[in-house]
Amino acid sequence: MLSKASLYAQQSTQNCELFVVRVAGNFVTPDGLGSLEYGAAVLGTKVIMVLGHTSCGAVNATVDALQKGNNLPGHIADLVRAMKPGIEPALKTAGPDLQQRAMIANVQANVRRLQTEKPILGDMVAAGKLKVVGAYYDLPTGKVMML
Ligand SMILES: [Zn+2]
Repeated sequence: MLSKASLYAQQSTQNCELFVVRVAGNFVTPDGLGSLEYGAAVLGTKVIMVLGHTSCGAVNATVDALQKGNNLPGHIADLVRAMKPGIEPALKTAGPDLQQRAMIANVQANVRRLQTEKPILGDMVAAGKLKVVGAYYDLPTGKVMML
């Protein structure tokens, strides 16, 4: 779920070793959920990683929209509405680097959602057949930081 990194190159993988679903803001969409369910239930994916990244434009736009009003054009406004539940808690807590905290909160919210999403992923997690983990790609260092 990341546009900034070539996951295939970074993980030194062959075709089909990674099943990648990408969307700006790395949040769960109905289509993305269907793809993840297919990956887990049909292809046998054992780990789903929700991967955010530093300096995420979608997260930063959502933070701005939630603070100043969502006046974004077209379907960009839909992105903000979809990302609001994951990002809003970061706005209600104090601390430095709101954009970083919002990015992490968004990853963690979508991890929790996938871990409990019924009927497929949540059941597989509960049965110990699937793990859902969160991480972010740190653009300055190129490292993936586990959450
Ligand atoms: Zn981004």
